[in-house]
Amino acid sequence: MRLRNKPGAKEKMKQYPHIIVSNPSEHKGKWNQVFNNDHPIHVEVGTGKGQFLMGMGMLHPEVNYIGIEKYDSVIITALERAIESEQPNVKFLNEDVTNILDYFDQGEVDRLFINFTDPWPKNKHEKRRLTYKGFLDLYKQILKPTGEIHFKTDNQGLFEYSLESLSGYGMSLHNVSLDLHKSDIEGNVMTEYEEKFSQKGMRIYRCEAKFR
Ligand code: SAH
Repeated sequence: MRLRNKPGAKEKMKQYPHIIVSNPSEHKGKWNQVFNNDHPIHVEVGTGKGQFLMGMGMLHPEVNYIGIEKYDSVIITALERAIESEQPNVKFLNEDVTNILDYFDQGEVDRLFINFTDPWPKNKHEKRRLTYKGFLDLYKQILKPTGEIHFKTDNQGLFEYSLESLSGYGMSLHNVSLDLHKSDIEGNVMTEYEEKFSQKGMRIYRCEAKFR
C-alpha cells in the first residue's frame, strides 16, 4: 500500500510556494500572472514525481506547465527536482483532480496530459479512471475549444476503454500509437512509469484527442 502522507512533506512544500502553489483557487483565471508571461498552459493530471513535466519544461521554455498530484509522498520528489533545476515554467499543485474547476477558468488551459494513470480495472470503479466521461466533462470546461488531451499508458485495457470514452465523448483521435517507442512520434519525454514499464519490455500506448 502506497504511503500517502510523508512526515515533514507538508512543511517542506510550504517553504516553496512558488513551486508547489499553495492556494491554487486564488489564481483561477490568472495563471499567466503567476508565470509572468502569456505562454500557453499545459496541465498534467496525476503527475507523480514530476519527471515528465520537468523534462517537458526544459524542452519547451515557451510553455507553462502545471502538474496536479494528490499524494504528498510522491509530489515531494517533484518538489526536490524543481528546487534543483530552478525552472521557472514548471509548477505543481498538491490537489485532487476532481476539484480542477476550482483552479482553472473556462478555456484557460491549452493542453492536458494524462500519463500512466491508475487503471481501476473493476467496472464498479470506472468513475475513478481519469479518462471517465465525468472527468472529460471537467477537462472540456478548462480547455480551450482548440485544446488537446494527450494520453499515454502501458495498460491495454485502460487504453481500449479510453479510446472509447474519448471518441464516445465526441472527440477526434489523432496520432494513435499501439507501440510508442517503435513509432516515429518525435519529442517523447518519458515519465517514471514509462521508463519502468518499457524497461520490462512492455509496450506503451499513446493517443491525442481533440474536440474538433
Ligand atoms: N504520471 C506519472 C505517475 C503515474 S501514477 C508517471 O507516468 O510516472 C498515477 C498518479 O496519479 C499517482 O501518483 C496518483 O496519486 C495520481 N492520481 C490519481 N488520481 C488522482 C487524482 N484524482 N488527483 C490527483 N492525482 C491523482
